[in-house]
Amino acid sequence: MSTFKVLDKEFVPYLSEADIQAKIAELAKQLNVEYAGKKPIFLSILNGSFLFTADLFRQITIEAEVCFIKLASYKGTSSTGNVITAIGLDTSVSGRDIIIIEDIIDTGKTLHHFLPQLAAQQPTSIKIAVLLNKTEALAFPVKVDYACFDIPNKFVVGYGLDYDGLGRNTREIYQLKES
Ligand code: 5GP
Ligand code: MG
Repeated sequence: MSTFKVLDKEFVPYLSEADIQAKIAELAKQLNVEYAGKKPIFLSILNGSFLFTADLFRQITIEAEVCFIKLASYKGTSSTGNVITAIGLDTSVSGRDIIIIEDIIDTGKTLHHFLPQLAAQQPTSIKIAVLLNKTEALAFPVKVDYACFDIPNKFVVGYGLDYDGLGRNTREIYQLKES
């Protein structure tokens, strides 16, 4: 693997395809056991999670559903904070076991604002599975239940993750090169 350029920035190889796939296989194995007989819904947050979700879900052998949503944030009518809405949540989550699938947790802000809305629909359980967990960047009280990798607070691209819309279409993950 060599240096990867996206727009004006240079990235260096960080996680190989083999490392990523090994962790995903491990996670799938765990979920297949923990969710057997529960018919969970994998709630995938677009866009960044689409490759992770596909590779994970194809290794799920128990009965399960998958649903792709987008989280859109907009300013509420009052000046207090952001409101997050889920676009495309057309499946009822009431009484269901939900596994949120995220590419990366950074500050946790997005999920922190979205979780209460999901909880309002009274699912049986909500757990969070992420490919990348920037543990040092977490600034909101979000509990990550499954993380494939704990990573430092540096910008990464590839395998679904973008820089300004580009760089998603790789099998590896790259880290911003120190200048
Ligand atoms: P949070 O709400 O947890 O602060 O932000 C999560 C979102 O920020 C992710 O879904 C992702 O879109 C974006 N993000 C955070 N860190 C990175 C990163 O290192 N690389 C990329 N490509 N996106 C990131
Ligand atoms: Mg995302």
